Amino acid sequence: MLEYFDRIIVGGGAAGFFTAINIAENNRSLKVLILERGKEVLNKVRLSGGGRCNVTHAEFIPAELVRKYPRGSKELRGPFHKFMTGDTIGWFEDRGVSLKTENDGRMFPVTDSSETIIDCFRKECDNLKIEVRTGESLKSFSSEGDYWKIEVGSKEYSCEKLMLATGSNSKIWNLLKNSGHSIVDAVPSLFTFNIEDDRIKDLPGIALDAEVEIPGAKLSSDGPLLITHWGFSGPAILKLSAWGARALNELQYKFSIKVNWIPGENELSIIETLKDLKQEHSKQQVYKRAQFDLPKRLWHSLVLASGISQDSKWADLNKQQLSNLGAQLTAAEFNVNGKSTFKEEFVTAGGIDLKEVDFQTFESKLHPNLYFAGEILNIDAITGGFNFQNAWTGGFLAAKAMS
Ligand SMILES: Cc1cc2nc3c(=O)[nH]c(=O)nc-3n(C[C@H](O)[C@H](O)[C@H](O)COP(=O)(O)OP(=O)(O)OC[C@H]3O[C@@H](n4cnc5c(N)ncnc54)[C@H](O)[C@@H]3O)c2cc1C
Repeated sequence: MLEYFDRIIVGGGAAGFFTAINIAENNRSLKVLILERGKEVLNKVRLSGGGRCNVTHAEFIPAELVRKYPRGSKELRGPFHKFMTGDTIGWFEDRGVSLKTENDGRMFPVTDSSETIIDCFRKECDNLKIEVRTGESLKSFSSEGDYWKIEVGSKEYSCEKLMLATGSNSKIWNLLKNSGHSIVDAVPSLFTFNIEDDRIKDLPGIALDAEVEIPGAKLSSDGPLLITHWGFSGPAILKLSAWGARALNELQYKFSIKVNWIPGENELSIIETLKDLKQEHSKQQVYKRAQFDLPKRLWHSLVLASGISQDSKWADLNKQQLSNLGAQLTAAEFNVNGKSTFKEEFVTAGGIDLKEVDFQTFESKLHPNLYFAGEILNIDAITGGFNFQNAWTGGFLAAKAMS
């Protein structure tokens, strides 16, 4: 039996729900259906931000906001002028969900619970009579005249306008490939680096601002770096993983990373400072007192790695030791061997080629009345709420066109 809905959204995630709710709100006479393959909808929203859902980011200038997207920055510029972070805050506020901003700009529901966002979506779907069907996995879609016919298990549906918001599902990308769309190969983004190195093995938990560089991939970033039990994490590293998602995949996650533990300094400038310290503190033990506001344990580790013994005094340091210490402080090299999942947020780089999408409407340029939003597109961002913002913006603009 072929069941008809005016609008069908495949994928019960962030982008799918935002699209469906906005369609129904724009035009209450439309019969809207969300089809979700899983038993539950909004799974990633539930897990997101460590269960708190980092909904968006307090960045209100479109030109700045787009700089958070290694893939999609050019294409999102126009859409962000129509619906961006401030609009997201207002949208949730209008539905009784207040957001708060943390020091680093990330925004969460004041309840600190992703269930608040899920409850909001569920309530909206009930009020707007949007049908949500779970356990329904899209198998195929084809256009028949002015309508889309879609096959879901043993059932068939038809609709006038179809949205695919299936995230990073390779099966759907393959269906799209068969329909003529180009798909950019998927690789992981937002991961942490595995490093086995004596200098950091006893330092998990230490976090500090640093400048980091991967010369082999011509990548650099800065910000908080966290030493973990398995290597490096923190925003500075996650940014590298996002911007270098493809390059680091090509290197099979084996590369060398340089860390400057004293941002703003370099090997030359630090040597001069170390010479001054040698004069000023000639009688003091180098190891004992941490310099440059570095955590004591890190200072100890870098001093020993420079070939300076625990009882050496500043006056004892020779040229080579000063140079070693300068290098350890501002250009410490570590070998990365593999990656680990960052549990608070991860995404896939890759998806529908952006050249084939109209970013006024998020409609396919190849197939009229077929729309996309969210991670199915070759768009992804650094961590901080920007990935959801892509889903909200795409969903909102597609909904406008689909209503
Ligand atoms: C653990 C984790 C935490 C995260 N935390 C954050 C965060 O705090 N802030 C942030 O901005 N981003 C976060 N992200 C990224 C964010 O979750 C994604 O960018 C966002 O969910 C993408 O939304 P989407 O709707 O495009 O895809 P999804 O949320 O992945 O939704 C796609 C839906 O489609 C369904 N589907 C797939 N194939 C089919 C099919 N054939 N038929 C029917 N249904 C199908 C899937 O089951 C899924 O429910 C996090 C990601 C993870 C994994």
